Parts: sequence; structure tokens; C-alpha cells
Amino acid sequence: MQKATAIIAAGGAGLRMGASTPKQFTELLGVPILIHTIRAFRQVPAITAIIVVVPAEHREHTLALLTRYHFDDHCTVVNGGKLRQDSVRIGLAQVTDDSTLVAVHDGARPLIAPADIQRCLDAAATHGAAIMAVPVKDTLKAVAADTTIRHTVEREGLWQAQTPQVVRAGLLKEAFAKADQDGFVGTDEASLLEHGGWQVSMVEGSETNLKITRPDDLLMAEALLMQKQPSPQMRIGHGFDAHRLVAGRPLILGGMEIPHELGLLGHSDADALTHALCDAILGAIGAGDIGRHFPDSDPQYKGISSITLLAHVAGLAAEKHFRLCNADITVVAQRPKLAPHFPAMQKILAEACRVEPSAINLKASTTEQMGYTGREEGISAHAVVLMASQPA
Ligand code: MG
Repeated sequence: MQKATAIIAAGGAGLRMGASTPKQFTELLGVPILIHTIRAFRQVPAITAIIVVVPAEHREHTLALLTRYHFDDHCTVVNGGKLRQDSVRIGLAQVTDDSTLVAVHDGARPLIAPADIQRCLDAAATHGAAIMAVPVKDTLKAVAADTTIRHTVEREGLWQAQTPQVVRAGLLKEAFAKADQDGFVGTDEASLLEHGGWQVSMVEGSETNLKITRPDDLLMAEALLMQKQPSPQMRIGHGFDAHRLVAGRPLILGGMEIPHELGLLGHSDADALTHALCDAILGAIGAGDIGRHFPDSDPQYKGISSITLLAHVAGLAAEKHFRLCNADITVVAQRPKLAPHFPAMQKILAEACRVEPSAINLKASTTEQMGYTGREEGISAHAVVLMASQPA
């Protein structure tokens, strides 16, 4: 396998989109276009490095995005130049000697299939240079400035160039040197090779590898992406907790202090309801239980608000790319009446879990004087959650 570096050209200002955000940062299904593009290249094992070329004023934002999507270890960000050719030249200067091939790709082509990237790499490894392209299928018209047709262009043998455009690293450097020497400006890498008289091979690609240029393209790209989305992975989790009721402690449940003559005893605030919810979430993401994350032998958790622990647990789930769909919680207590406090608790719990309050359902039950909860020796809580994976 020949190692390759990808240069993602995202230097454009995207003026045709008519928006203030450059098109490469516009979101498709909630994820920036540039991130979709990088994700496709990350799925190709031969691509061992990615150089992202962006306008200098968007450098910080790009770095922040790469960190957010955990691509920061694999990508280098460089400031682009005035023209695409300048940007790619700057990117090319960063390519290290261990890369045999360089794959240049438009940042605004987020739908490139990893298998198609690999086909271009294979063709370039054989022929020296290969680009993805599709045969022209519509009838082409040459049009005058007054929008009248001058003539029909023979479309036989005409192809539309796309990216990736993959070239042996040394050859691409030579092509740039020759173009610079001659003052030649091309709109893609293949044209620089053509200018120098080198052969470029075509790899037939797909119409779905569209370049996001106009607002209409966004709609089309979203529809196509929707089809490719894997269905989310669903995980269920269950949590149970109980604490003893004693005099001289406040009764904390669901992050709220409830007026009562007894309170729950524990190392933290002993909020059994919130503990059950934490355990259910940890269970769903396969991360053990609350005792493993916040041992009661650790003095830093003494008296800590369990809502702080819940927010931490929700953060762990987010790191594992899981979001809470819903939680169903039952508190078992003979007294006091809890239902009047549920709306407020719902809000507190939802905020800690970063979900809508409607995702948290609270129920109360007594055990009709039976058992330890019935004798008011303690309060227990059960929680069940459903979590869904979300794209990284
Ligand atoms: Mg507990």
C-alpha cells in the first residue's frame, strides 16, 4: 500500500452561496461540510496525513472544529492563498517524504465515497496521475452574453472533472514548478499536468460526488447524506439506588431539597433518585457504575451535589457519542409526597443531561407500608434509560 497525503482545499470564500459563512463550514445534518469531507478521507487507511487549507481568518475556527470532532491528531491546518493553485501549492509544501501520493480534494465535496478515493489512489499508483470525473450527460450549449444559444457543443468525449485528483508527490511538485515558471494558472491539478505534457488518467466517479456551490446543492447533499446515515445504535440502561432515612439530614431528591423531618444518609448528598439515573446512563454506555467513577472513599466527593455527578456522567456519554433519548424514573417512598416537586426536578435533571425536560419522566410509588421503604427506613429509586449513538 502506497502512503498518501490528502490536501483538502477549503480556501474559498464561498461567495456564490450568498451566506456570510464560507460554504465549507455550512452544516449538513448538523455537521460542517468540511468535517464530512475529512471524515471520508479518514476512512481510507492509505491516507496517513491530511492537510486542510483554509483562509487565514478561519484558521482558529477550523482548529476548534477538528478538536471537537477528534480529527486534530490527523490533520494539519495551513493558511490558504489567493487562488486555489496557491492554496494547493502551500499545502503541497507541507507534504512529508513518506507520502508517495498526494490526493487533492475540494473541501466542498463532502459526499465523496471512501471507496472512490481508494480507486483514484490505485489508478494514480499505476499511471502517475488520476482524477475522478463523470462523462457529461446533458446536451451542452455555448451561450452568448445575451443568453441566446450560439451553438451546441459536441459532448462526445467530454467529461466533468471532480476531485480527488491524485498525483505522485514528486510529479505534482514538478508540475507546480513548471506552471510557476511559465506563469500558468489552472483551475485544477490535472490542468497543471496537462500543461507540462504529462498524462492524466480518468477514473469514472459518481454524480453524487457533488460540489456544494449553490443553496440548492445543500438540499441535494442532505438528502443523499440521509440515505448514507447508519441507523443509530440503541442502548438501554438500568439503575437502582437506596439510602437510609435519618434525622438531622436534608432530604435531597432530583437535585432539590424536599421539606421533610428526615433526610437521606450518604457520603454525597445521598440523592438516590439522581444516583439511580447516573447508574442507568453509565450502564447504557458500558461504563460500570457510579461507585467506580466517584468512589465514596474519595474525600473530594463528600457532600457533593449529585447533580454535578450527573452532569459529569452525561459528559462521559457525550464523549462516547451517545445521547439520552429518555429516562423513566420511579422513586419508592412512603412519605413525603413527591409528585408536586416533579416539574422542578425534571428541569434540573434535564439540564444536567442536556435534554428537553420531556425526556425525563418521574414517578413515585409507595410500597403500602411493606418493607424498608414502607417502614420509612429509607427511600429507593429505579431508573431506566434509552440512549442512542450519534455521529461522531
Ligand atoms: Mg447512592
